[in-house]
Amino acid sequence: MAGADAVETHVVVVGAGPVGLMLAGELRLGGAEVTVLERLDAPTTESRASTLHARTMELLRQRGLLDGPGGFDDPEPPPQEPRGHFGGLPLDLTLPSSHPGQWKVPQTRTEELLGAWAGRLGARVLRGHQVVALRQEQDRVLVTAERGGERREFTARYVVGCDGEHSAVRSLAGIAFPGNDAGRELIRADVDGIDIQNRRFQRLPNGLAIAARRGDGVTRVMVHRFGTPPRGSGEAEFADIVTAWRDVTGEDIAHGTPLWVNSFGDASRQAEHYRTGRVLLAGDAAHQQMPIGGQALNLGLQDAVNLGWKLAATVLGRAPAGLLDTYHDERHAVGRRVLSNIRAQARLLLGGPEVDPVRSVVGELTSYENVRAHLAGMISGLDVRYGDAPRGEEPGPVGARLPELRLDSGATTAELLHSARGLLLVTDGSLTGAAGDWSASVDTVTARPQDTGPLSFGAVLVRPDGYVAWAGGSADGLRTALGRWFAPAAATPPAAHTVPRTPQLTGRRRNMANLTGKTALVTGASRGMGRATAERLAADGALVAVHYGTSEEAAAEVVAGIEKDGGRAFAVKAELGTPGDVHELFLAVEAGLKERTGETDLNILVNNAGVMGGVKAEDTTPEQFDRIFAVNAKAPFFVIQRALANMPDGGRIVNISSGLTRFANPDEIAYAMSKGAVEQLALHYAKLLGPRGITVNSVAPGITRNGNPVFGIPEAVEAMSALSTFNRVGEPQDVADVIAFLVSDDARWVTGSFVDASGGTLLG
Ligand code: NAP
Repeated sequence: MAGADAVETHVVVVGAGPVGLMLAGELRLGGAEVTVLERLDAPTTESRASTLHARTMELLRQRGLLDGPGGFDDPEPPPQEPRGHFGGLPLDLTLPSSHPGQWKVPQTRTEELLGAWAGRLGARVLRGHQVVALRQEQDRVLVTAERGGERREFTARYVVGCDGEHSAVRSLAGIAFPGNDAGRELIRADVDGIDIQNRRFQRLPNGLAIAARRGDGVTRVMVHRFGTPPRGSGEAEFADIVTAWRDVTGEDIAHGTPLWVNSFGDASRQAEHYRTGRVLLAGDAAHQQMPIGGQALNLGLQDAVNLGWKLAATVLGRAPAGLLDTYHDERHAVGRRVLSNIRAQARLLLGGPEVDPVRSVVGELTSYENVRAHLAGMISGLDVRYGDAPRGEEPGPVGARLPELRLDSGATTAELLHSARGLLLVTDGSLTGAAGDWSASVDTVTARPQDTGPLSFGAVLVRPDGYVAWAGGSADGLRTALGRWFAPAAATPPAAHTVPRTPQLTGRRRNMANLTGKTALVTGASRGMGRATAERLAADGALVAVHYGTSEEAAAEVVAGIEKDGGRAFAVKAELGTPGDVHELFLAVEAGLKERTGETDLNILVNNAGVMGGVKAEDTTPEQFDRIFAVNAKAPFFVIQRALANMPDGGRIVNISSGLTRFANPDEIAYAMSKGAVEQLALHYAKLLGPRGITVNSVAPGITRNGNPVFGIPEAVEAMSALSTFNRVGEPQDVADVIAFLVSDDARWVTGSFVDASGGTLLG
């Protein structure tokens, strides 16, 4: 049996279509390493699915994918269309939602957006890899892919097939795919250079015709000849659609240029199990259906959002028992229902004159508001609920989606779900702190919705996918719900349970910390240890505010370097130790965070900026003494005081002290005193902030290389090296790595401590 050390990545996702990419992003947000294997060498240029429904748009907004640079809304929101259809019968899809109706987005655009997002989050996408074999072992799966005649093996804890209706993963895993073959087919094409009238589900004597001209002049045509069975084999060609179109409408489109042509039938199949052992399925690999009204893509994307956080928690050892199995339970039931409504629609749409009476009855029924709303809820995905309401009771909020609410803090609930963590929204304050043990997975936010509406509860627990896990006022009830969906921090196993580095995380990037979705402020980050810390935290996934006092160019260089490596950072200026310093600092920090995340949450603070004295005790003036204290001791105190207003529960504070609080140097008495003062911050603040899950620690570097010219003098470096038991001077990264540990989830049990990062200098 192969050991866990043979595992190369947490999850292999097969298929880089929208569902695979969405899943990859969700897994990365949850902290899992992910490799995506895609058969095609390049993203498809064919834009098949072009409808996103309200629930999918809400989910994308929940991850911050609509607004901001590169989002769907940049430079302007995609066209919205309230009118949809049910089996070709017009149906207004409008329901209460932040994004009511349906949104027209070409699939290429959806893929581009999700691909860029997953890439930014650190997913590795390997194209040109065709999966040909799969073997499950007790603790891992081996996936073999072929690329240009060569075979490559990948090992992972889990593999997820997002590889479409002809899924290789599904067949290699032997998962049954029962259902019905197609009895009828629609041929469709995007055609340039034709000028025909738009037709919305027009039923003509010989068949059904649909034509919709897009803004770019290309017309999508779809046609079905009543009673024509699907072609036996081979793809549809343009000539087929030209003939069928002529038979049904009498129009000639032969002079047009087809951009692509395909056909699809009304086959309906669903995988018996969405999970077998370490293999899972999502999207069309799990369910095949006629792509009527864009439901197929939306169903798949919602599978991915349901699965991502559960699978990430599972591979990281943070999942309560049975969490992963809820994926099949929840999504198989949703899929079954959607497939059934699609089959009903296919009958209404593709049936000949014999279905006309049923169509007219259904048409009459849709004029009743509750029927319309019921069907709209089904098609838009807004009515999805996980779990049944207790027998005989009105369904409450539990199991349903949390509609987007604006809170009195100004943020919205969708914004609070950007990082795909659990969210405990406390409205009356009595349950603040109740999620303490779960702070590694759940953020607590105390705020009231501006309009409470349906959420008139003391607290609401929301899963990372935006569905309500619990709502109520009792601490016991809350703890039960937390235990059902999340593992408490103390149960989170140590880093040994994570996998070895994946190839894309070699070098200074590592798996120990995962700060994706976190924000950090590092003071004095234009140089030295502050710079190394900013770079390390950004490499671990955090968005970093790179603070400086005067070195604007150096700070800009740090930001540029981080961005070049795929990280996110911005520079903030404030001269510490001067009046108004902290106010100026936070104006810039908040503006930078707001611009990039839509919020002003600050998860991590590293108080690093400092000045040395370099003056003997007898020569130190009161002004010099005050300056040292103002920058090294007073500023960190007030920076923490101010930062706490922005810091969610579970935050991290690290203050940089110095080995000189324990190693005598008569030339730096005032400096050492200021660092002694800084160490008090950890002791007392740690006690104060423990209930919020915020840790506060001191790190004491020894002699560490910085820009000081003394490090250019070999004799001096030799003498300084002799102070360390390792016989060298420290490098900024030596200290940055210690800080990265302290701000990571792995250090959740360390607070109020003094961490010696002096390379053994203090051993004497
Ligand atoms: P460094 O290279 O001297 O850089 C200092 C950083 O702090 C710069 O980014 C500087 O920004 C910023 N800074 C200094 N005074 C500031 C002020 N008044 N307002 C705003 N920013 C200010 O730093 P380092 O040697 O890496 O040291 C980092 C921390 O470790 C300091 O707290 C230091 O006391 C401590 N430490 C250092 C050593 C060592 O051997 N290097 C040993 C023990 C402890 P601008 O350049 O933009 O002003």
